[in-house]
Amino acid sequence: MKRNHLLPILVAGQLAGMFLARASDYPVQPVPFTDVQFTSGLLRDRQVVNESVTLPFALEQCETSGRLKNFDLAAEVMRRRAAGEPSFQIKPPTKYPFDDTDVYKSVESAAFSLSVKPDPALADQLEKIIARVGAAQERDGYLYTFRTMHPDSPGQEWVGSKRWEKEYHNSHELYNLGHLYEAAYAHHRATGSRSLLDISLKSAELLQKDFGNGENRISPGHEIIEMGLAKLYRLTGDKRWLDLLKFFLDNRGLNNFRGEYSQNHKPVLKQDKAVGHAVRANYLYSGMADYATLSGDMRYLTALEKIWGNVIGTKLHLTGGCGARKEGEAYGVDYELPHRCYNETCAALAFMFWNQRMFLLTADAKYMDVFERTLYNGALSGVSLSGDRFFYPNPLEYDGSAKNNHGFAGRAPWFGCACCPPNILRTIASLSDYVYAVQSGKLFVNLYATSVGTVPIGGDKVKIEQSTNYPWDGRISLKVFPTKPQNFAVCLRIPGWAEGKPLPSDLYTYENNEPTKWSLKVNGETLALKPHNGYAEISREWKAGDEITLDLPMTVRRVVGNPKIAATRGQVALERGPIVYAYEGIDNDGSVFDIALPETAKIEPEFRKDFLGGVTVLKISGAERVTRSEAGQVEVRPASLLAIPYATWNNRGLSPMAVWLPKDPANVRQNPKGDLSSQAAVKVSFARPEKSAALINDGMAPRNATDGFSENFDFWPHKGTTEWVEYRFEKPTAVKSAQIFWFDDTGKGECRLPASWKILYRDGDGSWKPAKALNTSVTEKDKPSRLDFESVTTQALRLEIQLPENFSSGLYEWDLE
Ligand SMILES: [Zn+2]
Repeated sequence: MKRNHLLPILVAGQLAGMFLARASDYPVQPVPFTDVQFTSGLLRDRQVVNESVTLPFALEQCETSGRLKNFDLAAEVMRRRAAGEPSFQIKPPTKYPFDDTDVYKSVESAAFSLSVKPDPALADQLEKIIARVGAAQERDGYLYTFRTMHPDSPGQEWVGSKRWEKEYHNSHELYNLGHLYEAAYAHHRATGSRSLLDISLKSAELLQKDFGNGENRISPGHEIIEMGLAKLYRLTGDKRWLDLLKFFLDNRGLNNFRGEYSQNHKPVLKQDKAVGHAVRANYLYSGMADYATLSGDMRYLTALEKIWGNVIGTKLHLTGGCGARKEGEAYGVDYELPHRCYNETCAALAFMFWNQRMFLLTADAKYMDVFERTLYNGALSGVSLSGDRFFYPNPLEYDGSAKNNHGFAGRAPWFGCACCPPNILRTIASLSDYVYAVQSGKLFVNLYATSVGTVPIGGDKVKIEQSTNYPWDGRISLKVFPTKPQNFAVCLRIPGWAEGKPLPSDLYTYENNEPTKWSLKVNGETLALKPHNGYAEISREWKAGDEITLDLPMTVRRVVGNPKIAATRGQVALERGPIVYAYEGIDNDGSVFDIALPETAKIEPEFRKDFLGGVTVLKISGAERVTRSEAGQVEVRPASLLAIPYATWNNRGLSPMAVWLPKDPANVRQNPKGDLSSQAAVKVSFARPEKSAALINDGMAPRNATDGFSENFDFWPHKGTTEWVEYRFEKPTAVKSAQIFWFDDTGKGECRLPASWKILYRDGDGSWKPAKALNTSVTEKDKPSRLDFESVTTQALRLEIQLPENFSSGLYEWDLE
């Protein structure tokens, strides 16, 4: 693939609004995964597990879950209809029309893995899978098993009666193709085989036929076709795929169907905030970045800079995760960053894809800084160290029991909607794609990891050896081996954290924000360089064996959130290098919500080779553990803590987890162990599958309505009914007071304050009796309702709640005294 060498580094902003001569590929070229290999260290370790456990596991899941069989069934329907059974069809046996993509993502991952380690058996297995995919493709190129299996009528509610009819909504026809094209790109690059590429090109020809005249102005319901078309264009140079990419981008905002959820509220060039379903959004922004880089049309970059600035400035969790809201798997409003957030694994991965493309467009290291934060924290958390357990959401706090992982408490083996596992699989498999990039005589070093690579510079193939224990240690050695002495520039990314800034915004800051004294040497000689666009650039004549040593001292940083983030007020988190830390109950006497981390605490990093796959932990002394007596008295005692890298949490069973701790013991939440309600077993009259009744007595009452700490329980979708919550004690227990924190999501959902409520207790003969109230309790939003009653000694207590007409109700917490 030739690219336009006349294209300068695009300086964002300066070129806004301009069109540049079209390049046929990215101005900055990533050195492809086929040319770089990790040889040891964290990323290699994760890849080994990925190859040996996750990949076979995913391929097996594609088979056992029936996803691959869908392709066989589609082929069978076509065969039997052609052979004289014109009404033969099969109802799709799996759940979602996008189940096809799990096969594509698994093939893509296997292809990446083949590029690292040739494996004829795996290559052969892939060709067999691809043959089954090809057999399901209709003669004109249409490929979508859910329709081909059941062509006379929709076999599933998301499938339209005609092709593309429900693409706006949920059919995912183009989404499936986007993943198909991505897989074809990886498979062709890794193996040279054209099998999957030919299937993809035949499918793309159909898109050209159905959309190429510009009339059927559909905006894809779930983006990724955009990135897929960019890859077809990069492989083939066929401009029709780039034009189709632009067509699908520009169709957004024509009719506002689904509005912000599908980023269809405005034309993309007018969009300025990250909104709606976060995976959809980040795939769209990646596709826009692809188009801007590949076409030179900088209007798309102008829009992207605004949207990216909105995320970096207001919507990114410290872990680099995004998409805080569970409702709609969506970006929240500005500064809506609760600890018990959603942060889908796929959203983190898509955010990495977007950031890499922003870097390829601008050659600015800030995008790779953000990429690195997400990679080491909010993305790697998505898969267990064992490689066969996964997170769909990646919250920054966990109570130790909630079934918040799509119905599972803790990491799950797989999901009905299985987007995340194969997505993290393919991303880990392809991580070597992100290490280096080149642009006219410049080599960009973006990731630090022990590896060997070959990069194209000035007509030469320069071998590069990196050796480091990053991210646990900031010392990096990089040796270059040009075939003959030659001039080029090596640009080393100096991470924002080393310069004293966690992000290129004011969303988070380090309390101890002095830049580290990083140093750079060539063959032992110190260079004094100032980074430009985040890179220290060494320009000179290089000879084989020349060694660069970069030392990025890793101090432990105390991070605080922007005061506009409610959840982090008065709190502190810890980072070291690119790693964000978390506390798990298992290392900290079972409980993490009763601890404060004052400024005087002493923190000492320690590398533990045999712990959690080899990690640097933080040993902390001088923390403070808080107990509240029944009378409300606060007792503070010193505590020692252990913090582990966030990405490794929940690898040792269920345990409470927190990333942020209050600095002041006065701000510590109620000790979950101390309250009477926490000793009770909780039962409810109704709970939908993803709502755990344990939320009611988890000791996590909100301090205020927006502190983001506490997750509510509610009876939705029940409306207007009488419901109850019951506490049962092992032995008769005296109770005299109840405090309830109600949940009301007016403006967002359908929960309101209850029409009425009362407390009942079970007496000796097993019947329920009302408790005799001693005060009049008010039922208010944002304030707890307190009811004192004549003391009862009982083994069971009920809170009976009358839901308002046409609405539901819920509560954060029900405490007892
Ligand atoms: Zn996902």
